Order: sequence, then structure tokens, then C-alpha cells
Amino acid sequence: MASEKPKLETLQKDFEDISKLPRLSAAVENVDKIIQLLSAAREQVAGTLDTHTAGPTMIKLQNPIKSAFESIENDLKKASAAHKKMGKALNESFPLKPLPMDHDAMADHVPLINRAIAMHLLREGQFSVASTFINEVQGSNSSKQRDTSADLDETMDEAENAYAGRYMSASPTPSDHYDLSSLHSRELHNHFSEMYSILQHLKAKDLDPAIAWAGRNSAELEARGSNLEFELSKLKYIWLFKGPAVNGLPDDDNNGFLGALTYARKTFSRFGARHLAEIQKLVCAMAYAPNLSASPYASTFATDSAFADVASSFTREFCSLLGLSAESPLYLAATAGALALPQLMKYTQKTRAKGTEWTTANELAFETPLPESMLYHSIFVCPVSKEQTTDANPPMMIPCGHVLAKETLARLCKGTRFKCPYCPSEGLLKDARQIIL
Ligand SMILES: [Zn+2]
Repeated sequence: MASEKPKLETLQKDFEDISKLPRLSAAVENVDKIIQLLSAAREQVAGTLDTHTAGPTMIKLQNPIKSAFESIENDLKKASAAHKKMGKALNESFPLKPLPMDHDAMADHVPLINRAIAMHLLREGQFSVASTFINEVQGSNSSKQRDTSADLDETMDEAENAYAGRYMSASPTPSDHYDLSSLHSRELHNHFSEMYSILQHLKAKDLDPAIAWAGRNSAELEARGSNLEFELSKLKYIWLFKGPAVNGLPDDDNNGFLGALTYARKTFSRFGARHLAEIQKLVCAMAYAPNLSASPYASTFATDSAFADVASSFTREFCSLLGLSAESPLYLAATAGALALPQLMKYTQKTRAKGTEWTTANELAFETPLPESMLYHSIFVCPVSKEQTTDANPPMMIPCGHVLAKETLARLCKGTRFKCPYCPSEGLLKDARQIIL
């Protein structure tokens, strides 16, 4: 690792150099100047019928245009030299090394990879790039496929509101994999442009579009146990409460203390069943209105990160109603790969050099260093039976806090009682709780 550090530092320096370049602004100015000169000359020539003035006008043009072109060229030269240098530095720092693999596992799955890329672009809101990409992929497949534009139109006509799971059917038919139109790209485009427009409003601290969306999808959100609708309304109440000096909204009856109270009356009653305690807290805080920051409610009313928090839970809920994860799987896979692959490569090279190979199939010989946010599918191995728990044999926590597999627990039981194998405490079978990993 030590030898790679200086390389990265040079790279960073080169990058800083390139950032300092005036971004061709001089060239752009010069182009504008040339256009101005030429149009002025054209008007002058056209405005006079005397052919003798046209000649001198053209001659006068020569020098300024020539010098403008020269400075454009200079500017371009600087930029292209810097780009060349940066490219060279990049090549030196990241020499193209083949992965130490006998075969490329992804090589046979080009359609799947294309699909993942298209999906990623749509999810990131890169709509025009996504549609160019999809068109090009489908164009290159068109000899093999029937008219895909007809598929896209069908997609468009399909029901707008058919949510949940449609983009991620549990067992896609093989033909699904090979057909990018099965992505329902037009529909996804519409959904994600709605999502990004709502997010933009949230960024500008405008909660109304998000609240309207949550209201339209209230039943689905409720069914998922989501608090989003209430969280949005709560933030709106708090935001109004802060008044025009903070929220910048018009200073009228719909804002400030009164506005918040009206909003609470209108909105909070429908959340009463699930969020009564919190609503009481929010309304009680009104008593402290003159000096809220010194009150016990100060933390509830702090909005420093509230908009960002609500935006990220909105993104999560929005994606999950579409049957998608909150993060783009391609982004996660690429990031996790970039973090974990260097170790894997090092390990493979070393074992190759020593002539040894992995002996365990489907298992890595070392931990992959990934941050917690990238770990999925946690497993639990029962400390007694040494078996990995499954859906049929899930991990169970017993009252003393120890965790065993369900089958182990059943074996330990005498009647309805059991004795923990790790501490001497006894418990009842009905008190054991299943743990969801
Ligand atoms: Zn115990």
C-alpha cells in the first residue's frame, strides 16, 4: 500500500492543476468576439451600396479575427496538454491488470449487464442517457428481435398504477432477461422523474409535493408499516411553527404559530391512532412557543437534518413501492467490488505463486472488508448444533438473552420448560422470540 500513496498524491495534484484551468472561457469569449465582428461587418457591407467600402471593411476584419483565432488555439492547447498529462498519470496509477480469473463469469450475461446499466441510469435520473443506451442496445439486437418500439408503446399503454414487484418479478422468464423492453423503461422514467421532482422540492424545503404523493399512496404506505406520511406532516407542522423568519413563507395566517395550529387541527386527527403520544408532544410544545429552544421540546423542533432525513426515507419508500431497493444494485455491486476485489486479487496471486488453491467450494478463505451498510443476508449459526439457521429453523432468543436455533431449543425442552445451555437460567418455550436477521 505504501508505494501507492505517492502515486495518488501526484494524481491529486494533476487533478488540481486541471481544475485550475480557466475551462476554455477565453476561447468561448473569443468565439463570441469573432461572431460579433463578422455580423457587424456583414451589416456594414449590406447597408451600403458602394462596393468601394466593402473592400476596406473586409481588410479591417483580417487582423482582429486572426488574433482571436490564435488565442483560441492557445487556450485549446493548454487544455489539451493538461488532459494529456492527466490521462498519462491515470494510466500510470491504474495500469490495466487482468483479473486473476480463469474465465469471466459475466461474459455470457451481456443482456443482464445491459439491463442493470439501463436500470441504474433510470434510477439515477439520467433519463436521456438511459434512453440513448436502451435504443442503442435494442438497435444492435434488432435483427434478432421483433419490433421493439411496438413493445415500448405497449409498455406506455399499460396500467400506470400497477405497482409493487413488477420490476423485480421473483422468477423472471428467461426471455425477460434478454429483452430490455421488459424493463418498462418508459414507466420507470415517469416514476423516477416524479421522484426526482419531489426530491428537488424537498431540497428547497417545500414539503407539499411529497405530502401529496404520500397521501395518494397512503394505503400502501400504511400496509408497509411506514411512518412517512406522518413524518412529512410532522415536519410541515414544525416548519410552519418556526414562522416566516425561519421558513421564508408568506407572513400570514397560514404561517407561524397560528398556521401550525390550523394545520395540526386539519391533519393530525387521522394519525391519532398510531402516533398519539407524538402528536401530544408536538401540540404541548406550543406552550413553549416564545422560547422553544430552551424547552424540553428543543430536539423535536431542530430541523437541521430533518429535511435530509425525510428525503432519504421518502426515497426508500418510493423505491420500495416500485418493488425496488433504495440503492441502485449496480452502484452497490460496483462499490462493494472495488472495495473487496483488491484483497481477493492479492490472495489469488499469492496462492497461485505458492501453487495452492482454495479447497473450500463456494466459500472465501478470508473476510471481505465491507462497511456494515453493504452487508446483506446476515447468517446465524446455532452455537449448539453448529447449523446455520434457515426460514424453517430460525434463530430464537430465549429470556436470558442467549440465541439458539429453533430445532435446538425443541430438543432441549422438557415439556414446556427448558434450561439454557449457556447460563443456568430456565425458561418457558412460549417466552422464546424469533429473531429476524
Ligand atoms: Zn442463557
